Amino acid sequence: MEQYPLIIIGSGPAGLTSAIYAARARLQPLVLAGISFGGQLMNTTEVENFPGFPEGIMGPLLMQNMIAQAQKFGATVLYEHVNEIEVSARPFSVTTNNSTYTSDSIIIATGAEPKKLGLDSETTFWGRGVSSCATCDGAFYKDKVVAVIGGGDSAMEEATFLTKFASKVYIIHRRNEFRASQIMQERVTQNPKIEVVWNSTVKEITGEQTVNGLVLEHVETRQTSTLAVDGVFLAIGYTPNTTFLQGKIDLRPNGYIDAKGEIFTNVEGIFVAGDVEDEIYRQAITAAGAGCKAAIAAEKWLGGRETVIRNT
Ligand code: NAP
Repeated sequence: MEQYPLIIIGSGPAGLTSAIYAARARLQPLVLAGISFGGQLMNTTEVENFPGFPEGIMGPLLMQNMIAQAQKFGATVLYEHVNEIEVSARPFSVTTNNSTYTSDSIIIATGAEPKKLGLDSETTFWGRGVSSCATCDGAFYKDKVVAVIGGGDSAMEEATFLTKFASKVYIIHRRNEFRASQIMQERVTQNPKIEVVWNSTVKEITGEQTVNGLVLEHVETRQTSTLAVDGVFLAIGYTPNTTFLQGKIDLRPNGYIDAKGEIFTNVEGIFVAGDVEDEIYRQAITAAGAGCKAAIAAEKWLGGRETVIRNT
């Protein structure tokens, strides 16, 4: 079994930023990047809000650059999927689809995946009119018509944000009342650009090169109707990638890692960074920031100075 000071699980902005910091600190980290590496930005087109790229940068290119930067400083990147970790004794062990590795510390940066409707057309138009991030893609819909699917706080937030750009924002919700907090609902109902389509589900997303409409079904009457839209934003929740951590690391009831101070799990020597812990901000830059913190914390912990960082 190969032994490493630090194993980083995940290769989105959180995992790769922690890899860059850890590699520069001479921790020789092993990054278990997953078989489909790079996280959510691999499914994004242009990223306009990551600092340092005034002209924007394509999501996959940004991730390839981060991998190259981590490797340049000595990180080992393996494209393997982690199935299991053993944390009851040190060194910890991490088992992938290919092998088992041991380490003195671990950073978990496995991210979260936006829930999908499960339609073929959603896959077809992903990144070409279908998105799960208004902050990332909203600016592409200036004076256009968009739909937000969902009835929780995310849907309210996305819809309100999209009114800065779009001429009209529909919220499509499957029930006749929202799940969202009252204050977020009020913002939506008071916004003249937003119209709610109640009791409706999306049966199909239509388009040619890009999205041009939705086929909706009324949940009670089963009647279908069409709605012309230029873009669709899914806001039906996220699923953190923590199945392999159940019973090993403390999780919140909704599956996110229950961390203290954003990066400390309940197991000493195991740190967390990014969307697998953060259910509120979910941005590449916030994940990268958490990755930086986790790497510095791991470095200090490996150097025997954990108490210092916990108390400062
Ligand atoms: P959420 O609260 O789980 O809401 C998901 C919404 O999507 C629900 O309205 C749900 O409908 C709907 N939905 C789920 N699956 C669906 C499907 N297959 N088809 C159609 N609709 C579907 O998720 P969230 O809005 O992402 O919020 C997650 C957490 O983050 C919450 O605790 C929220 O308060 C928090 N959050 C806070 C803020 C903030 O404070 N600024 C912003 C965003 C999120 P039903 O209602 O019928 O189940």
